Amino acid sequence: MAEFFSSPEFESAYTYTGSDLGATWTKESTCFRLWAPTAKSVKINLYRSGNPGAEDLIKSVTMKADVNGTWVAAVKGDLNGVYYTYTVSRNRRRVETCDPYARTTGVNGLRAMVIDLASTNPEGWEADRDPHAGIQLTDAVIGELHVRDLSIDPSANIKNAGKYLGVIETGTKTDSGIPTGIDHFKSLGITHLHILPMYDYGSVDESHLEIPQFNWGYDPINFNVPEGSYSSDPFHGEVRVKEVKQMVKGLHDNGISVVMDVVYNHVYEAKDFCFNQIVPDYFSRVDESGVYSNGSFCGNDTASERSMVHKYIVDSVCYWADEYHIDGFRFDLVGLIDTDTINSIIREVHKKHPNVMFYGEGWTMPTIPTKPDIHLTTQPNAAEVPEFAFFSDTIRDALRGSTMDTSEHGFVAGAEVDKHLLHSCFMGMPFWAPNPTQSVNYVSCHDNNTLFDRILLSVPEAPHDVRVRMNNLAAAFVITAQGIPFFQAGEEMLRTKPDGKGGVVENSYASPDSVNAIKWDALNDPVVMNNCNYYRGLLAFRKAHPSLRLTSREAVMDTVTPIHLDNPHAVAFGIRGTGDVPMIAVFNAGIHPQTVNLPAGKWGVCVNANKAGTEVLETLEDSVCVEAISSMVLVKIG
Ligand code: CA
Repeated sequence: MAEFFSSPEFESAYTYTGSDLGATWTKESTCFRLWAPTAKSVKINLYRSGNPGAEDLIKSVTMKADVNGTWVAAVKGDLNGVYYTYTVSRNRRRVETCDPYARTTGVNGLRAMVIDLASTNPEGWEADRDPHAGIQLTDAVIGELHVRDLSIDPSANIKNAGKYLGVIETGTKTDSGIPTGIDHFKSLGITHLHILPMYDYGSVDESHLEIPQFNWGYDPINFNVPEGSYSSDPFHGEVRVKEVKQMVKGLHDNGISVVMDVVYNHVYEAKDFCFNQIVPDYFSRVDESGVYSNGSFCGNDTASERSMVHKYIVDSVCYWADEYHIDGFRFDLVGLIDTDTINSIIREVHKKHPNVMFYGEGWTMPTIPTKPDIHLTTQPNAAEVPEFAFFSDTIRDALRGSTMDTSEHGFVAGAEVDKHLLHSCFMGMPFWAPNPTQSVNYVSCHDNNTLFDRILLSVPEAPHDVRVRMNNLAAAFVITAQGIPFFQAGEEMLRTKPDGKGGVVENSYASPDSVNAIKWDALNDPVVMNNCNYYRGLLAFRKAHPSLRLTSREAVMDTVTPIHLDNPHAVAFGIRGTGDVPMIAVFNAGIHPQTVNLPAGKWGVCVNANKAGTEVLETLEDSVCVEAISSMVLVKIG
């Protein structure tokens, strides 16, 4: 079937373009529409509860074949809160499964629920807006966070520990009175909170939340349903919907936009995924002999090039933007998804929400699309998706060293890194990026070691204070570089993922809270507190200077000029843009001080090894001496 599903004949006969797939509720009746072109018959099973296996069938309703391979049925009465599944029969096989278009489900995502979505809106929802509507992409500062990590450590003193509602608890403090949770991130100066997967994923058993469980959540089972384990009640489908909306509104009310991490490139179990149950293997890239393409290294790749998968992904992203007011989407392994699908998503979402931002992991992966001539959304194809930004592993690896070999030094740990590469990274245009708006600059995310752990692994012999300087040298580079700055929540706190045996964990996707949680007590250490202030100051400095946030190649080339230094461990830049003061930025990773001549006039230091901000710390003329393993940023003041 693999070739047939991707053929023009199949697509012209069986592409449904309507907007009513799934269950459409009104008080009088609910209309169901399912796309199942290979089915012989389909019925809907209505249940009292969402608990899989519970014998509480209300009734089954036979669906009628309709256009383009769809099946329809209307059920009279107010079905809000009624759970349902589909039974799909073809040849001698019969499967009962969830609805790919389910808006919510019962526990563990096996039974869909009909829902009156308007009844889940928090008060003031109609007036809720992206607090950063109208900003440029390069004005964004993104912090990446896992819902549970924020609040599960007892030191957070957050009541809704590990839950959606814990993300928006304000006024929380450590026992010593230091702000925790969202208050901390708000004061740091991020614009966007990027939340690790919060659609319904499969690796946490929602029916046993009394047992501590952790997973990053890159194992989707229902793409249009919030994950149940972060809700206060995963058994009642409306609760998770209400609480995600409350979380989004609470973040917006605190001036923070919300980015959702979406994982359309693979599913938890290809055979069990409801779409594949209904139309066998349609959703996945499978060859004629039944072998799954596995460029994702997660067992299966999504066949985004097929018309009804393309539509499904576009519909899904639009739904989260419309229904949940999500302000940005981070695509996991977007290098597996075709550029047509990504451009359709951006076009459709921007019709109603022109401000929504899109970025993702554009790695080139060994996937096998089901159609010829498919262009994938990879870094080398960046020009084909001009409104989509990519994580810059180029700046990450240049500054901190490779993710493959953790003993390898990066620039901040004293490696001699190609200066052209460093220059292009600072200018927001590593070789694959046509414009700074397409480069997401980072040195830490949930994947691989935290920045501080990565530095420890490459220079275990270095004293603690030296490793802190390396950390902050990387931070200053990323935050003053052209492009979109991004960091893992807690990088500013020198976050570490201790394995409890004196080492650190690299891949903590299923590690316990002791590894993953943000330990707010760390802020009792004055060094850590000073580090948070350093990041806060860097972000304030970035915000104060439009010439650090340019949006075109031409503007960067006109504004930023590398300064030649005869030192393999230091780079420097002159920054002279219209509507801003001239600046000099120096990054010295060497173990000796580096002197840089200054153009005529008076120069004020705003960033040095220990302090950063918009205030001038000292005034210099003629030259500046930059300490070993530190950065300095100066502004012209006369
Ligand atoms: Ca789940």
